[in-house]
Amino acid sequence: MGKYTLIITEKPDAAQRIASALNEKGKMKKMEDNGVPYYVAKKDKEIVVVPALGHLYTVAEERKGRNYYPVFNFRWVPRYTAERGAKQIRTWIETISKLANNADMFIDACDYDIEGSVIGCCILKYACGNKENVSKRMKYSTLTKEELEKSYAELLPHLDFALIEAGGTRHEVDWLYGVNLSRVLTISARNWSGKYATLSTGRVQGPTLKFLVIREKDIRSFVPTPYWEIKAEVEISGSVFEAEYEKEKIKIKSEANAVLNACKKKNGQVEKVDVRRFQQKPPVPFDLGALQSEAYGLFGYTPRRTSYITQRLYLEALISYPRTSSQKLPPEINYEAILKKLSKVPKYKKLVAELLAKPELKPREGKKKDPAHPAIYPTGRLPERDLDDSERKVFDLVVRRFMAVFGEPAIKQSMKVHVNVNRHHFYLRGRQTLKEGWLRFYGPHVRSEEVLLPLMEEGQPINVKEVILEDNFTKPLPRYNPGSILKKMEETGIGTKATRANIIQTLYDRKYVREERMIVTHLGFEIFEALEKYCPPVVSIKLTTELEKKMDKIQAKREKRENVLVDAIEILKPVVEELKEKEKVIGKQLSSAIKRARLEERIIGACPVCKTGNLMILYSRKTGKRFIGCTNYFKGKCETSFPLPQKGSVRPLGRNCRGCGWPTVQVRIKGKRLWTLCFNPDCPLKEERRKRIEMRNMQ
Ligand SMILES: [Zn+2]
Ligand SMILES: [Zn+2]
Repeated sequence: MGKYTLIITEKPDAAQRIASALNEKGKMKKMEDNGVPYYVAKKDKEIVVVPALGHLYTVAEERKGRNYYPVFNFRWVPRYTAERGAKQIRTWIETISKLANNADMFIDACDYDIEGSVIGCCILKYACGNKENVSKRMKYSTLTKEELEKSYAELLPHLDFALIEAGGTRHEVDWLYGVNLSRVLTISARNWSGKYATLSTGRVQGPTLKFLVIREKDIRSFVPTPYWEIKAEVEISGSVFEAEYEKEKIKIKSEANAVLNACKKKNGQVEKVDVRRFQQKPPVPFDLGALQSEAYGLFGYTPRRTSYITQRLYLEALISYPRTSSQKLPPEINYEAILKKLSKVPKYKKLVAELLAKPELKPREGKKKDPAHPAIYPTGRLPERDLDDSERKVFDLVVRRFMAVFGEPAIKQSMKVHVNVNRHHFYLRGRQTLKEGWLRFYGPHVRSEEVLLPLMEEGQPINVKEVILEDNFTKPLPRYNPGSILKKMEETGIGTKATRANIIQTLYDRKYVREERMIVTHLGFEIFEALEKYCPPVVSIKLTTELEKKMDKIQAKREKRENVLVDAIEILKPVVEELKEKEKVIGKQLSSAIKRARLEERIIGACPVCKTGNLMILYSRKTGKRFIGCTNYFKGKCETSFPLPQKGSVRPLGRNCRGCGWPTVQVRIKGKRLWTLCFNPDCPLKEERRKRIEMRNMQ
């Protein structure tokens, strides 16, 4: 091969798509070097497209070792030198370096955002031999042939250095925070107890945990007060409806009883019918955060899961680049062409025809902008393989949202019927869609709340079947879930599109929170309290937001990387010094929290025999074998015990057996399916299973 152009992409799929889009002569060739794939295409000259594997370089300390802090000196290094399990990166970098030797032109085609720009720049600088200042940049939002060809024809003359500076600074600042604070926690706990446990916190992780702790504290200190609700079941033309009392919450029981007595066995009369018509505007196009919340609300997918799914759909050129904060759809994407392609799918055909019949296609847009990418939209390409269930749902959601933004407002009607029952007022509420508008396009994803009431007129008598008194207690605000905490992070402006979902996952991985409705664990509380007590800046939401703003300014060329780094170190230095002084107290507090957390992990549930103890996973002193025993054994009160499988790992499931109601454990053996074990020897399900097997053997 003579001299060629070298294009660098962020991921292998993107490399293949770019090579095949640009190839004009003969067949595009897939090559491999040491297990690293790359592609050779022929246009006017030869083009070699080689992918990265996400980040190949990372920030690391200058001196090696995990046992000390503070650390303020760092440099960018190949990931394999800094991280365990990143061996593959070495051959990857070697292959790129080899390919760079014979290239006479370099193009960075990584994703156009701060992460992608940092990935591309590092490779050009470190693996290709300082080519970052002579490289061109490809900018695109979809991996379709047309857009890739256009982007290659209109190459940007140089890299986007503002984006690179902003992204690089972010990595450096986050690394400084993460490494110093996590080491403080881990080292102080280890020095105290002699045991190792990974504890972490970070610049964004700390404040995120704070939101959760504040909510958890509110919930735990919440004192529920009783209140009473009154409802009337009324019958109108053969159907029964529920009417609510004029006062939603009655705080005094005698007052509620008085109403009940006054209305019992009395009939009512329609006093007034209020009908209100209103418009419900179409939704705005999806940015990543909105798509993540919607997928959580509709399908229960965590933000991280949605992020993976959209990434796959993007790499197959089905949707545009998902890591966007834009709610705009520029006309250049060609709405009509996209819709026409989508109409090949039978379920979209009629809907598309309706949109194309409109005199003009104009999307409703939101306020949020993103300089690099438009909102998320379908490219019009259709899947070449069978999508799995979750991919299909998210793809359909993106397609339908895209169609819905071009729809007409929906027209709805709400009806409030005032019913007088012995001078007390009750309301019947109806809600009805008069004109579907955009709702038709959004179809299965519309969360509807239709209540149809029959026509009623003033003076009409109403048959009251029953008046019901319900006692209730006031409730605290609900716990956050992965969708709502993501929204909270977005609103407060902490973290980035690329990092938020992972930060939430880390809170689970470290066992600071558990369950879908995020409950802060004892360990989560202790970590937060130690940080808040000894170094409040680390969990300060205000400080984090301020730093975020400064980093954004770098991108807008209104702030320098050096200044932000100096600022970050100035905040961090005294904090870490202070923490170091208090290492012992912190270590003691965290060690006991870890011990308790580990103990909690082994508790299975209440002992069904003595009812006062807890069943726990225990280890025999003599044989080292594990079994289930009751905590009351140690008090000489209960000798209940059950055997456990010795292979694989066992953890409490937190759910009871549907056959006998005993707590259950989950057994995980490598290479086998997860298995729920009810250890009750007399469980009726066991008997059933035994019989089934017997029957089968007899046949
Ligand atoms: Zn017991
Ligand atoms: Zn059972």
